[in-house]
Amino acid sequence: MSHPASGENFSSDLPRECAHVVIGGGLFGCSIAYHLARKNKEVIVLERRNICSGASGRNGGQVIQLEGRDRNEESIKRRLALTGENNRMLQGLSRELDVELEYHRTGSLDIALTEGERQELEEIVRIQKKAGDREVEFLGREETLRLCPVLTTEIKGARYRASDGTINPFLYTHGFAKNVVRLGGAVFPHTEVKKILKKKGKVQGVETSSGKKIRAGKVINATNAWSSLLVPEIDILPLRQIAAVTEPASALPICPVEAFLDGEAVYTNIQPGSGNLVAGGLRALAMSRQGQYDETVYQPEVTGAARVFSCLYPGLGDLSIIRAWAGTMALGPDFLPVIGKVPEIEGLYLSAGFYNGMAYACIIGELVSEMVITDKVPAPLVAFGPEKYYRKNFRWPTEYNCTSLSEFFART
Ligand SMILES: Cc1cc2nc3c(=O)[nH]c(=O)nc-3n(C[C@H](O)[C@H](O)[C@H](O)COP(=O)(O)OP(=O)(O)OC[C@H]3O[C@@H](n4cnc5c(N)ncnc54)[C@H](O)[C@@H]3O)c2cc1C
Repeated sequence: MSHPASGENFSSDLPRECAHVVIGGGLFGCSIAYHLARKNKEVIVLERRNICSGASGRNGGQVIQLEGRDRNEESIKRRLALTGENNRMLQGLSRELDVELEYHRTGSLDIALTEGERQELEEIVRIQKKAGDREVEFLGREETLRLCPVLTTEIKGARYRASDGTINPFLYTHGFAKNVVRLGGAVFPHTEVKKILKKKGKVQGVETSSGKKIRAGKVINATNAWSSLLVPEIDILPLRQIAAVTEPASALPICPVEAFLDGEAVYTNIQPGSGNLVAGGLRALAMSRQGQYDETVYQPEVTGAARVFSCLYPGLGDLSIIRAWAGTMALGPDFLPVIGKVPEIEGLYLSAGFYNGMAYACIIGELVSEMVITDKVPAPLVAFGPEKYYRKNFRWPTEYNCTSLSEFFART
């Protein structure tokens, strides 16, 4: 299998016209473009920076189908319908793209560190099963430690899903991008879209920051955290997240872990190729909406990551943190993605609101391409449509982080 050469086959001469323009060269933009190209459609991807330079190039690589502690049966059903199918598609994807994606089905654990959490997770497993989830299970302390012996012995049990796992997000994104080019499409890094051009309720194309106009009948806004800057009628919330990585920790079994530490949702994962341990989530600073795009990492955030490592894996105290980074993901107003046709503007589509996109990108690429080609919303996307949020003003907190937002959503 080949390695996708980042940038090597990408283009520089922008066309004057293209049937389908995808804005955003992250995992979703590249997946949507790939699925359009696979169906013999003319398509280009326009990316402001490098391919995979947004959240897709900054994430922990966890593929978790029902991430978080959602208790809402309806949203569990909707999410699992998509992520379950995505998991099926991931199995053959390395072969399909001719790129080794370092995808491993390792199982994932959401661990309980207190007795109260044990009860909470048991209850969530019951709700998920009631929603039709046949795979999820609750494991007691001993069983959990058998799966992951280096975890703290303080744990009280875990929610477990065997078919979750891990993937290399760079290879995932570049794998799609490389295949867009192979199938006759084109990818333009360092090309920012300044404006989506419209006339009489119809999309006309896009204008780049260098003033160049590209005519297009169909435009897909796949910029996730930046999508409301181009389509302000739909409020997608940018959300900053940080991660830190240690030197290789070869004794650790590969297994994505979620947990609640000091009242905050945190995660760890092993990078399968190298054995480095990634962690994130603790003590990300609360920032303004504009501040959510800040890619600097601050000292308390690195200290927070160190606390995640030392609390969840106390036996690995000697490992050094070698790097830390920040990135911006996104949330829809219901904590769910927002995917569909933008109301009142024919030919404009949105795919945004992803904060655990690794578990969605293949199926969303497939369904969005179908929607764009047929102009009909496929059944699994109906519940995620933007109509509900169009021109609605939400009163978000002025400063927030992941934790304060979860509390805000729980209250409203
Ligand atoms: C620290 C961190 C850890 C994470 N860990 C995980 C994890 O373990 N598992 C998981 O499933 N998810 C994780 N996520 C979330 C995941 O990364 C996202 O859900 C996913 O990458 C979203 O992909 P995307 O293509 O929609 O967005 P992005 O990758 O952000 O792509 C959007 C692209 O649009 C470009 N763009 C913006 N404006 C314009 C414009 N005007 N013109 C042209 N281009 C533009 C941006 O430069 C960007 O490249 C994490 C995120 C972060 C930040």
